[in-house]
Amino acid sequence: MQSLFTDAFFKDLVLQYGTPLYVYSGDKIALQYKHLQESFDPKTTRFFYACKALTNQHILQLIRDLGCGVDCSSINEAYMAVRAGFTPERILYTSNGIAFDEIEAAVELGIHINIDSLSNLEKMGAKYGHDYPVGIRLRPNIMAGGNLKISTGHEQSKFGIPLEQIDEILQIVHRHNMHIRGLHIHTGSEIKDVKVFMEGATRLLELIDHFPELSCMDLGGGFKVAYRPDESGTNILQLAEETRLMQEAMSKRAGRPIEIWFEPGKYLVSECGYLITRVNVIKENGSTVFAGIDSGFNHLIRPMFYDAYHHIRNISQPNAPKKKYTITGNICETDQFATDRLLPEINEGDLLVFFNAGAYGYEMSSSYNARFRPAQVLHYRGDTRLISRRETLDDLMHLQIL
Ligand code: PLP
Repeated sequence: MQSLFTDAFFKDLVLQYGTPLYVYSGDKIALQYKHLQESFDPKTTRFFYACKALTNQHILQLIRDLGCGVDCSSINEAYMAVRAGFTPERILYTSNGIAFDEIEAAVELGIHINIDSLSNLEKMGAKYGHDYPVGIRLRPNIMAGGNLKISTGHEQSKFGIPLEQIDEILQIVHRHNMHIRGLHIHTGSEIKDVKVFMEGATRLLELIDHFPELSCMDLGGGFKVAYRPDESGTNILQLAEETRLMQEAMSKRAGRPIEIWFEPGKYLVSECGYLITRVNVIKENGSTVFAGIDSGFNHLIRPMFYDAYHHIRNISQPNAPKKKYTITGNICETDQFATDRLLPEINEGDLLVFFNAGAYGYEMSSSYNARFRPAQVLHYRGDTRLISRRETLDDLMHLQIL
């Protein structure tokens, strides 16, 4: 896979900031957003970056300046978005399984809210009636996404209100004369097949007549990007064309313009990011050769949590003859990044770079085993800057009451 940065650039950063280190390309984020802007009709389609993928303020500000909105999954993400300078109109809060006081806090901020349970819908209606327009997150009963762990719209999923409860939804909406401004689905992550998005959209189209004040349909995130060298992502041009047709059909059915909203996370930030690590030990174990790095699932959990594939490049010896390595971390868990991966020969001290580390990498990191979270660096428009420093022992201790 082609890297956005040269090996020499990575090595320079390591000299300056050490390892492990997260590095992001702001130019790549801008390019991804530009591709969306140029492919979809900006008059009828809006994008809200799913910031759970990467919430650093510099990233949020960059995305704000591009003109994109932001989708939040907790009230604290919404506060971070406000701090990054997003106006309420550009902030969406798609809740799941939350207490009603977070919804009240979101109302205080004046942001868009998607509600995902009958009980919160009832509370919302009882408290705000018609005064605060809301969206409803539905579970469309569609199996979608890379694997079950990243599929969220199927019949066993906790996310959204099941479609078969539409009668209960309507009773609540009518009882409180609620202003329903949108319907929402998010069926999963890494959805390659455009038909899956349209299958979900069709289920929403069929509900339009029930909601006379509807102004948008939110189809969630889940655009696929390539993680493996032989993979391709969602065909954005095809998705844009099918969305255009769907938007027309929805608007015709409603008798007024209906906007389409999307909430891409990985699409905007996955490929922009890299995790640079150093090899601590090489351990021979029969036919297996372990390369133990100075990281673990405390820094990049996706391989262990989702069985995710992350491309790895040995930037110290990219042209050495290839051998099979099992790449492991240094924490007290079985934290395997890759099994029997064919890589250029690895020696202790070599630098291994993990690709597609921008989304759900640093953001899902922890200080497990009292190891420090890595520093983060952003390269954008020729400027390279530290956007968060490496943790210290004081950081690990600062909440403890001594
Ligand atoms: N929207 C919602 C409601 C989500 O739960 C997620 C991911 O968990 C996203 C958007 C972003 O998904 P992705 O990063 O696959 O685009």
